[in-house]
Amino acid sequence: KADTAMYVVKHSGKNNYLFFHPDMEKEIQKRSTIERELRASLQEKDFRIFYQPKIDTATNQIQGFEALIRWKYPPDVFIPIAEELGLINEIGAWVLEESIRQLKVWHEAGHQHLVLCINVSYYQLNNREFPELVKTCIHKGSIEPSLIELEITESMAMQNAEMTKGVFSRLNEIGVRIAIDDFGTGFSSLSYLQDFTFDTLKIDKSFIGKIGPCSKTNYIIQALITLSEALNVIVVAEGVETEEQLEFIKENGCDLWQGYLFSEPLPVDEANMLLEAENNRKDES
Ligand code: C2E
Ligand code: MG
Ligand code: MG
Ligand code: MG
Repeated sequence: KADTAMYVVKHSGKNNYLFFHPDMEKEIQKRSTIERELRASLQEKDFRIFYQPKIDTATNQIQGFEALIRWKYPPDVFIPIAEELGLINEIGAWVLEESIRQLKVWHEAGHQHLVLCINVSYYQLNNREFPELVKTCIHKGSIEPSLIELEITESMAMQNAEMTKGVFSRLNEIGVRIAIDDFGTGFSSLSYLQDFTFDTLKIDKSFIGKIGPCSKTNYIIQALITLSEALNVIVVAEGVETEEQLEFIKENGCDLWQGYLFSEPLPVDEANMLLEAENNRKDES
């Protein structure tokens, strides 16, 4: 039967065979479709950026936005493919340039305090020219470097700790901030935290989602907040969806939070509406 059959494909040389299941073939076809579409979209810069607000727990105000790329497939699907195809540097450069341009627009509209967070892939970090690119983008946008924060996931940062350490210190010299994203999911040793210079730790949303009465996860989050205090870095909770979760992270001293409870990632015009609403509230009080 077709759905249980394995394809046997002769592969380079006499006795090399690859075995394919029909599901794998579908997967390969889907990937090659995405690859074709990705190359075409890259030519046209046919991507968008949505912005998710980050809220200061002390003031309940928007401290900044995280830039999240949008395309016809979700980033979790196409970013890994773009990385494999070596297209992530070009995509990442566009995200940097475009989101910094947007930050400048916000600053000029009177929101000078806003911070911009940009996600960066391991392959970008590993690119020799990356720090220079960051410097150029910031210079072009005439933005204070400390208002830019680059997010790198814990597992990516650990892939090559020596390299990461070096690039972090170069980025430090430039003056941008560095956040460790999805913290707690990377299974890495804590010792490297002493070696890396970074500014922010983002607690992964999988922990936040498990906050509840008698949940062991509560203690893990408390420990991560204490750890951040000891390291003197800002701590952010991502994926806050309920009042209960917000109360918990506030009571335990989290500095900032993001999540659907306040807002999903938004297109620019909707982000503008949030900023306006906040300004109106300030004027009233
Ligand atoms: P991330 O940086 O950890 O971003 C957080 C993800 O959680 C985003 O998914 C966001 O939409 C989602 N999220 C935010 N609040 C909530 C919430 O309350 N509940 C839940 N369940 N989810 C929430 P998104 O936009 O699909 O991005 C997924 C990942 O793709 C990002 O994870 C990031 O690692 C990567 N990514 C996104 N944009 C870029 C980019 O421009 N460059 C690179 N290299 N990676 C990107
Ligand atoms: Mg992120
Ligand atoms: Mg994250
Ligand atoms: Mg993530």
